[in-house]
Amino acid sequence: MPYQLFHDLFPEMAEEETRSVTVFGDRSETGLPPGEYAFCEMFCNERGCDCRRVFFYVVASFREGPEAVIAWGWESPEFYANWMGDDDPEVIAELMGPCLNLGSPQTELARALLDVVRNVLLQDEAYVERIKRHYRHFRTRIDGRSMASSRLRKRKIKKGKTKIKKRKAE
Ligand SMILES: [Zn+2]
Repeated sequence: MPYQLFHDLFPEMAEEETRSVTVFGDRSETGLPPGEYAFCEMFCNERGCDCRRVFFYVVASFREGPEAVIAWGWESPEFYANWMGDDDPEVIAELMGPCLNLGSPQTELARALLDVVRNVLLQDEAYVERIKRHYRHFRTRIDGRSMASSRLRKRKIKKGKTKIKKRKAE
């Protein structure tokens, strides 16, 4: 499952619509040091895949590199069981998250950032809808469905016109 930043394909939308959280003061109740935390979205870029998950690649304003990589899937357990062909509850729980992604770099702030995702970001319905919308844009770009079908339509219209012209000329 190769994951790619939403920002790579939609830089303008990502710049306007990427969620960030600012922490003020010395070690607030979040357990995070003051700074700005951006929750950059990553999606799977495998053609034809529809795994319906996001990876939050969290970066902080005060140092380089990812602070955490957090996985989350918004569909039902049944959806992921079906998609994986495996209904092991542990496997499904890990797919759905939100959880720290195994095998990704995590820092000492990762747990606190996971709490922010779970208790703040995912409680915001408008934000959840935004993630799903970004996912659809991303999938459409990867699979090229809408582009392919609009090209096909144009070609059909052009062919039709030529035929009519020829017939008139005969
Ligand atoms: Zn996928």
